[in-house]
Amino acid sequence: MVQELNVGVIGGGYAGMAAAVALAERGIPVTVFESAKQLGGRARGVVHQDTQLDNGQHLLLGCYRQTLRLIEQVGGNIGQDFLRLPLQLDLHGEFSLRAPRLPAPLHLLAALLNARGLPFNARLKAARFMLALRRNNFRLDGDMTVAGLLAQHGQDAGLVQKLWEPLCIAALNTPIHKASAQVLLHVLRDALSQSRADSDMLLPRVDFAALFPQRAANYVGQRGGKVFTSCGVEAIIPKDDGIELATAQGRATFSHVICAVSPAVATKLLRPIAQLDSAVAQIETLQHQPIYTVYLRYPAHVRLPHPMLGLHRRFSQWLFDKGQISGQHGLLAAVISAEGIHQELSQEELAQKVIAELREEFGIIEPPEWFKVIAEKRATFCCAPDLHRPPQQTALPGLLLAGDYTAGDYPATLEGAVLSGLRCAGSVRQHRFG
Ligand SMILES: Cc1cc2nc3c(=O)[nH]c(=O)nc-3n(C[C@H](O)[C@H](O)[C@H](O)COP(=O)(O)OP(=O)(O)OC[C@H]3O[C@@H](n4cnc5c(N)ncnc54)[C@H](O)[C@@H]3O)c2cc1C
Repeated sequence: MVQELNVGVIGGGYAGMAAAVALAERGIPVTVFESAKQLGGRARGVVHQDTQLDNGQHLLLGCYRQTLRLIEQVGGNIGQDFLRLPLQLDLHGEFSLRAPRLPAPLHLLAALLNARGLPFNARLKAARFMLALRRNNFRLDGDMTVAGLLAQHGQDAGLVQKLWEPLCIAALNTPIHKASAQVLLHVLRDALSQSRADSDMLLPRVDFAALFPQRAANYVGQRGGKVFTSCGVEAIIPKDDGIELATAQGRATFSHVICAVSPAVATKLLRPIAQLDSAVAQIETLQHQPIYTVYLRYPAHVRLPHPMLGLHRRFSQWLFDKGQISGQHGLLAAVISAEGIHQELSQEELAQKVIAELREEFGIIEPPEWFKVIAEKRATFCCAPDLHRPPQQTALPGLLLAGDYTAGDYPATLEGAVLSGLRCAGSVRQHRFG
């Protein structure tokens, strides 16, 4: 092995950049290779018609502690970078739940009991369900689907459709009949059971590349690290003195490599390495779920009743008013998460459905000046019960895996990605002191 620590990171998404920041912070030489022209991966800025968009509207929770901490570490300001809303779930005209300013978990119980749009009996069942989960510390004896768990706890159809299903799809990007109940409970545990602020919803005012990865690249650069964009890694080659990375621009050898790419790219890069057969097989079992975002540019005076609200039994699951969030007046975003019949429509047909829904629900009769549909077909892994996600450590000494799909409590989220990157950086640091 090469004597000194010197780390190569493949991929400049949230996982890779989190690892790079944690290494640079400790003065460990780090080089990030990103194949795209820009950093951010599945959470990146996109410009369309001179308008700054994201590849998809994202939302963070107050309990995403490590992501929020790192954003501040690299120069962000959580108060300015986000519109912060207390926990609320509004399905326009159908259901409304808002958490009052009470300590957790009373804020949730009060929100459930006072929710509008469900009979008292249903609200009581929801509150009892939450108390039962809390009593078991949000742990199940065995994993099962979310639909199975809801049935076991007598959550009736209205409750499922208006509360648990939208929540599960938003958190896990997986339909309730396929989604892991245990992973959902991890999110509920972290968001709902400790501090009230943990359940706050944070909507970014800046694009997702600017929010963290670009600032992280500056931070790494100021500490002697390097971040190369348009510089994809073509091969990972184990050597006697470390691990070599081959790019179109040349080759370099590192003491450690953190492979922080999506599952599909990871299998391609890892397959030629015989020791990694079982990791590759494990990654190949992961299935994926899409997220579609429809951006619509209306005249500046068009606005929604809230910065974020849901629709019940419509194509548009969640609507975001970018005017109220980031001052982009008249720009609306409709998010459609997980698999569904929307995938059978062309982008034009889908946009027309959303336009019709906005007209019918809010009386927005003017047509938008333009729309842009961004379909991320492999947005996240399908978060099924008892999923065997590959650990960060691999059978090849010095090679680590980061990314939202690697082992951890969280579904495919920014926080899951960041935690995996921090874990990899921690393993490298341990090597130094071990
Ligand atoms: C539309 C959408 C909406 C989402 N909404 C939310 C949300 O509201 N909240 C939330 O928490 N999460 C959300 N997510 C999930 C979140 O974006 C991801 O979990 C997270 O961004 C994954 O980060 P990552 O670093 O693991 O992977 P990626 O972001 O996929 O990063 C991998 C990087 O590797 C690069 N790369 C690929 N091949 C190579 C190569 N050969 N060499 C070098 N670099 C390479 C890629 O270009 C990419 O930059 C959403 C995702 C999508 C797509």
